[in-house]
Amino acid sequence: MNADEFRRAGHELIDWIAAYLEGVEQYPVLAQVQPGDIRAKLPRHPPQQGEPFDDIIRDVDEIIVPGLTHWQSPNFFAFFPGNSSYPSILGELLSAGLGVQGMMWITSPAATELETHVMDWLGEMLGLPEAFRSTSTGGGVIQTTASTSTLVALIAARESATQGRSNAAGVAGGNLVAYTSTQAHSSIEKAIRIAGLGSDNLRLVEVDSGYAMRPDALAAAIESDVAAGRIPAFVCATVGTTSSEAIDPVSAIGEICRKHGVWLHADAAMAGTAAICPELRWLLDGLDAADSFVFNPHKWMLTNVDCSALFVRDRAALINSLSITPEYLRNQASEAGAIDYRDWQLELGRRFRALKLWFTIRTYGVEGLQEVVRRHVALAQEFAGWVEGDHDFELAAPVPLSLVCFRHRAGDEASEAILDHVNATGRAYLVHTKLDDRYTLRMSIGQRTTERRHVEQAWQLIKEAAAEVAR
Ligand code: PLP
Repeated sequence: MNADEFRRAGHELIDWIAAYLEGVEQYPVLAQVQPGDIRAKLPRHPPQQGEPFDDIIRDVDEIIVPGLTHWQSPNFFAFFPGNSSYPSILGELLSAGLGVQGMMWITSPAATELETHVMDWLGEMLGLPEAFRSTSTGGGVIQTTASTSTLVALIAARESATQGRSNAAGVAGGNLVAYTSTQAHSSIEKAIRIAGLGSDNLRLVEVDSGYAMRPDALAAAIESDVAAGRIPAFVCATVGTTSSEAIDPVSAIGEICRKHGVWLHADAAMAGTAAICPELRWLLDGLDAADSFVFNPHKWMLTNVDCSALFVRDRAALINSLSITPEYLRNQASEAGAIDYRDWQLELGRRFRALKLWFTIRTYGVEGLQEVVRRHVALAQEFAGWVEGDHDFELAAPVPLSLVCFRHRAGDEASEAILDHVNATGRAYLVHTKLDDRYTLRMSIGQRTTERRHVEQAWQLIKEAAAEVAR
């Protein structure tokens, strides 16, 4: 493909994307295919000769699109939102077009400096403590996912707890203990395994009736480990759990962490974006005591995956745990103290992700992004009201923001059958969780284009399914 062919194909592709997003509502939200269906349509061997771009696009239409679950549909209420937006798509495209590798300042100074700058913007937008800014002791870095962000924070915590001697005999992971609630995301346990602490050394702390971590239970668990000669090294509080959006009391948890000198990480992967609205900033109360904090602009801040924002209070702790410098990476800028984000992450190489975030924030403005959050929160509160007012259904958890957990009063079987009915229509897609071991439907309202009529339609489908199930 030469530059002219690229121009033609590129324009065609932009038109294709715009048409897809304009019409995405018409597709069944959940892919209607069976495992293996897509591969069965693909040629067994790669082409020996190059093919025209038009043929590739035709296959996107005929093979790929039918195999998509449409995360950008306004009727997508499953898991958590995975928003993209037009400026974000363009930023992603530009990143590919520039093709730079921002592993160190010297390898593309603009990639590093824009990232530092945009992360400081995010710190200001969410009202994060000053210590998390690059102008103070800490700073932010874009990681691929919240899972990776948490792993990176955990490694810094591990190295801090062992003074960098985690491989030395007697100080290895076996002695270190981590804590999170029973409702924490599975990525926390995964990180504990990867970082070598081992699942046996992860304590799952009990939650209260609203599914938030109980600080008294955390304190008791830490004290019991200390008494047994173990080293409490890492606490992960969740601000907005995946199952029910419960918000752990970060202030109280922070006090306990301070008392015992334990690293506190706050995982606000989904809910963190809400803090851009001053009236919702209570979410992050107590963050002053945290050592690290993550939220995903790739969930609710209209920036397409992958874009996870990790902030640390003490960048030296992170850098000391991850920096290894072979001769071929040495350069004057690094030695003079420039930020090299390779030392803030697992990988060496890194994409220019700050562009899509910059494009998105600049295009929407803080107020535009706030409007999106407020719309979703208002819709979720309204939906919760419909559930509460219906004699067949009940709320299963508090609704602090945009996720409504509810169930049919007839029990698990009825709730499960309703979910299957609704998803089979293709006109909405929800998933379930279990709260107190009871089957619970989750209505997650966070897609950029979701309006009241989509939420109303979903409620209508749920009511129709309930009537069907009762028959
Ligand atoms: N933490 C929480 C609270 C989440 O809700 C999620 C995803 O739903 C994650 C972590 C994992 O996010 P990622 O897919 O970016 O690793």
